[in-house]
Amino acid sequence: LTVLTSVDQVREAKVMGCALVPTMGALHEGHLSLVSKAKRRNESVGVSIFVNPTQFGVGEDFSKYPRNFDRDCQMLEEAGADWVFAPQTEEIYPRASTQISVPIVTELYEGKLRPGHFEGVATIVLKLFQICGPAQAIFGLKDLQQCAVIKRMVEDLNVPVNLHFEETVREWDGLAKSSRNVYLSSSQRAIASKFYLALQHCGQGLTNGENVPGTISKAVQSLESEGFSVDYIDLIDFPTFHPTATLGDFNAIIGAIRLGTTRLIDNLLLFPPQNMP
Ligand code: AMP
Repeated sequence: LTVLTSVDQVREAKVMGCALVPTMGALHEGHLSLVSKAKRRNESVGVSIFVNPTQFGVGEDFSKYPRNFDRDCQMLEEAGADWVFAPQTEEIYPRASTQISVPIVTELYEGKLRPGHFEGVATIVLKLFQICGPAQAIFGLKDLQQCAVIKRMVEDLNVPVNLHFEETVREWDGLAKSSRNVYLSSSQRAIASKFYLALQHCGQGLTNGENVPGTISKAVQSLESEGFSVDYIDLIDFPTFHPTATLGDFNAIIGAIRLGTTRLIDNLLLFPPQNMP
């Protein structure tokens, strides 16, 4: 595993045409599955590790976000990644920078509840694309709105990269793997899988023709009665990422909940990801 820590080192390593997996580190099997999918698509697979300050809001977990670079590198080596790019914040943001803002798909949900988050995400992803010049970039469907944002940005700005969105890797009980799961206490962890179960239950109800608002509010109520704070559960429509009251061709059930101070997001896609409009 080649460790690259500056933009110059990336230029010298001539990684153009690679497959890139952007991450914030604290790697788990979800990230590693993206690496192995990337390996099937490209000879050279690189992973960026950068806890991007601009996508964290005031009062969010930027300073306590888990960081373990040595362990991450060991995992990447075992997963067969060729190189890792871990830049310094000062090199990425030497001054207040140009921001990418993607309309419509960022209006609601994470975009609304975390103002500035997707501007931070879109900007760092475009910078990583400019620095590394990947032919392919691989993202996890776990962060579904992020996938929609990046897809729209790449189309709108004619960025010459092929995007691939890969399935969410889950714990044995269905909880989506996340770097933030380490924040859960053992009693919170014990009930956390009910979040995804609720999304699945909604999905079954809706595909059986149940009414959309009723099914969603039942799911919200049942999670709240278990001790979850529900930020939202909704049926959304692609490509707008806005709510819909009827099932169409391109829908997903999305959710965000809090257990204590830990916030988790998850979703259930109701169509094959390669068809994402
Ligand atoms: P992060 O480090 O959280 O920014 O995530 C880096 C990439 O890994 C993003 O494209 C995420 O969507 C993806 N990812 C995170 N968790 C999972 C998971 N459980 N399964 C698959 N991909 C994931």
